Amino acid sequence: MRLVINKRKCSGCHICELVCSVYHFGVASPKKAAIRINKDDLNTSINTPKVCLQCVDRKMKCLRGFPDPTDPATARESFLWDRACLEFCPYDAIFRYEDSALHCNLCDGHPRCVEFCTPGAITVR
Ligand code: SF4
Ligand code: SF4
Repeated sequence: MRLVINKRKCSGCHICELVCSVYHFGVASPKKAAIRINKDDLNTSINTPKVCLQCVDRKMKCLRGFPDPTDPATARESFLWDRACLEFCPYDAIFRYEDSALHCNLCDGHPRCVEFCTPGAITVR
């Protein structure tokens, strides 16, 4: 499973960030979310949700940041990653939080952002 983003439908409401942080940390804080909304600087109303693409195993460059060899499936299930992974994701799709990196683990199989994104900008495939 992976999240599919349609940025044309994104209103920029940030609800996905809030429900992500509530699910994983119990607090509503975009800084504690594994999905982030990039707003354009040109005021053209384009919002781009960024989240892990759940790359296939051989393309998971992020795994180079783990201190020990890590099974891709095990890494996928984890939300808190080593901070060193940040420099290896070519899509900037994981986010720094204190000494860790936040990685979308699809809310253990039931992504909350999909459930709460009323414009339908986030779906699963
Ligand atoms: S909840 Fe949906 S519409 Fe709102 S910011 Fe997130 S992706 Fe965009
Ligand atoms: S963290 Fe980046 S490289 Fe790793 S699976 Fe997600 S999108 Fe792909």
